[in-house]
Amino acid sequence: MRAHPAGPRHGEILAPPGAPSRPSSTTEALALDPTIWPLTAARSASGALTVGGLPVADIVAQYGTPVFVLDEADFVSRARGFRQAFQAAEPRADVYYAGKAFLTTTIARWLTAEQLAIDVCTGGELACALRAGVPGDNLLFHGNNKSVGEIERGVAAGVGIFVVDSFEEIDRVATAAAATGRVQRVLIRLTTGVEAHTHEFIATAHEDQKFGFSLASGMADAAVERVLSHPSLALHGLHSHIGSQIFDLAGFEVAAHRVAEYAAHLQKDFGVAVELLDLGGGMGIAYTTGDDPIGVDEMAEQLRAIVSRVCAEEGLPVPRLAIEPGRAIVGPSAITVYEVGTVKDVDLGGGHWRRYVSVDGGMSDNIRTALYDADYTVTLANRSSDSDTVLSRIVGKHCESGDIVVRDCWLPADLQPGDLLAVAATGAYCRAMASQYNYVPRPGVIAVKDGSHSVILRRETEDDLFATDPGA
Ligand SMILES: *Cc1c(COP(=O)(O)O)cnc(C)c1O
Repeated sequence: MRAHPAGPRHGEILAPPGAPSRPSSTTEALALDPTIWPLTAARSASGALTVGGLPVADIVAQYGTPVFVLDEADFVSRARGFRQAFQAAEPRADVYYAGKAFLTTTIARWLTAEQLAIDVCTGGELACALRAGVPGDNLLFHGNNKSVGEIERGVAAGVGIFVVDSFEEIDRVATAAAATGRVQRVLIRLTTGVEAHTHEFIATAHEDQKFGFSLASGMADAAVERVLSHPSLALHGLHSHIGSQIFDLAGFEVAAHRVAEYAAHLQKDFGVAVELLDLGGGMGIAYTTGDDPIGVDEMAEQLRAIVSRVCAEEGLPVPRLAIEPGRAIVGPSAITVYEVGTVKDVDLGGGHWRRYVSVDGGMSDNIRTALYDADYTVTLANRSSDSDTVLSRIVGKHCESGDIVVRDCWLPADLQPGDLLAVAATGAYCRAMASQYNYVPRPGVIAVKDGSHSVILRRETEDDLFATDPGA
């Protein structure tokens, strides 16, 4: 038998290409990068992680693991930051929070208090916003295949704007609006040929994807004609969404340019004044050190400048702007706290080892690593450590070898079962995409603020798992 693997063998654990470089000290490894961790995340005198003034270990003692801990101050300041930046650039600008990133009735109420509107894309998200008491006028309804039932419910609730995505849908919204005697405002979703992701974007003339009406093929003009043919519809403006986790303004700039030029074409050739240009969401956040998101103020100014310039060139009034950030508001606000169950050092041959740290959740509460190869930052949450660091892989408890939470990270070598690990920036697309895979109940979400906490989603129970099984 070999000696304890946390002993002399640290340096032999394989560091694959692209793995984060080894921190120079354990102190550095345990430091909380403020660009990644929630606003109020800190370490107490004993080295334990606190958020909102509360040790996460206290939350765990009360609610168990895994658990999402959401920093209310962080969420509210990001929501407010978007609204203020865009309204500073253009006083009538609207910020629609993309509900798909993470939506509960509490989140919807916080947003409404901060004067943000909400973008929903299914009947369920619509129901959540309505149950929270969000006025219909503060809602925008997305989705490429809204059912007739969803459309009717949206129209009945007085949803301010439908973003239409197909010819069938244009007719369905028109029929639903006509039946209630309303004139429904709609935006036409354009595909601009710009596809952006992180640092790259591509700009082509056509798009091979399910969303929207393409500019290049004449499809957009046909959609405009179809909307104008219905007296129960009002063509309010245009929409474009170019991707997600975008760090580079250039893609937004090209898309804004194309949409503004199309607005000029609508004015000239259809006599339609575009009142609203919605440039979508996709603003990136820092998941790991070195990720460098675009500043909100800079983004607001630049987008407004592009739209103003194109409108001036075309002699058009500048339309109102809208954006739809989801991840950039809620992503950094929450962390996931897991308990370590096992620590296994696997011999890869050739003198290389890999440490597998198993936690009590995984792909059922965070599918993004398996789905998108996403990167995360993780830290020891219940204590400090002065032991050396070791390259580790955080894996879940599901029956899939792809069930990885954090592919490569440096954690103290004395990590042991019972320790708590916190993964940063899990507010967006984690709880929202959670499943009950392997009959693992979905975690709760606990909001923290100024030393107190509240449950905004409770953990599922075993009874919740069987609620839909008539034989259970
Ligand atoms: C997903 C999506 C958003 C939000 O994207 P984020 O990356 O969370 O900002 C906004 N608008 C539309 C149409 C979307 O599909």
